[in-house]
Amino acid sequence: MTEIAASAERSDEAGQEPISGISVVVPIYNEIENIDLLCKELTAALEPIGKHYEIVFVDDGSIDGSGEALAERARQDEHLRVIRFRRNYGQTAAMKAGLDFASQDAIVTIDGDLQNDPADIAPMLAKLEEGYDLVHGWRRHRQDAMLNRKLPSMIANRLISWSTGFPIHDLGCTLKVMRRELVAEIELYGDMHRFIPLLLFERGARCVEMETHHRPRLHGETKYGIGRTFVVILDLLTVRFFLGNAGHPMMVFGGLGIFSFALSFVATMVTVIMKIWGGVDMTGNPFLLLSVLSALAGFQLLSIGLIGEVLARVYFNQRGRKPYTVRQFLNFEDDPVAAGA
Ligand code: UDP
Ligand code: MG
Repeated sequence: MTEIAASAERSDEAGQEPISGISVVVPIYNEIENIDLLCKELTAALEPIGKHYEIVFVDDGSIDGSGEALAERARQDEHLRVIRFRRNYGQTAAMKAGLDFASQDAIVTIDGDLQNDPADIAPMLAKLEEGYDLVHGWRRHRQDAMLNRKLPSMIANRLISWSTGFPIHDLGCTLKVMRRELVAEIELYGDMHRFIPLLLFERGARCVEMETHHRPRLHGETKYGIGRTFVVILDLLTVRFFLGNAGHPMMVFGGLGIFSFALSFVATMVTVIMKIWGGVDMTGNPFLLLSVLSALAGFQLLSIGLIGEVLARVYFNQRGRKPYTVRQFLNFEDDPVAAGA
């Protein structure tokens, strides 16, 4: 287990109190075959803890009947709350909605496909009560494909760790336990849910990493492919410059920028090889031009992406806009729709 000393000393103040209740937030997109077992395992993991608990399922516009299945279960079990989106908004928006409407002081986030083991929740909560603000899971023996999932995420984690000074092995692990008062402060847009630990760490949260189990997906398919790695790298750039935000400008301009840099790199290599080994006269050579122009274009595109991000941030913050729209709330005491959500 790696302990990460953030700015505050862990001895004293707020955040040390024992927790009174638990909200488990589960994003669900087309997980119909997993729902029964998921509910069973979550209940079996939460009941013995002996604290008040709720399970907040966020149906992210599923089209396989997951939303209806969750609604049906919620009618029979008052611990279950369901937020149903009008369409698919992505895992981050689902997470954000869950965090927005979770009511207890400890929040657990967990995947809906049973790849995380609900049995890990109890030891993570115990760790939180030792005086941490966030306990994040580390899927040390991750059960996903090597080439398109584990390797890219290993590289992304190294990059993130190196560029932020946050010694984390597995930023992408959804299984986390955190105190609600901190979570309430962070804004999540775009594809940012995986940066929650980093965002909290940068705000001085006391964070600790804990090894958790990870299981292969039994039913359904992963919703992500290798393209996600690029999104993570672009999001990381945004996080580094403007903590707490992500959005689409950086996706568009940043993507083009990175492409231009890559092009420039290749052209530079060709130029160097032609000049040094080939002895070619490079005056007016197209590779030389390409190498210089692409580098300049790359830099400008990235800058535009960053400026776009600032504008997106201003836009979202001003309007107080939520990154999702809700069709239905189930088992919420005060109907959030009536309350103006
Ligand atoms: N998910 C979601 N909205 C999406 C994609 C995924 O709510 O647009 C949920 C999905 O149902 C699952 C969790 O996010 O509960 C993680 O997704 P997945 O298992 O596909 O990701 P992986 O484990 O492959 O990283
Ligand atoms: Mg999964």
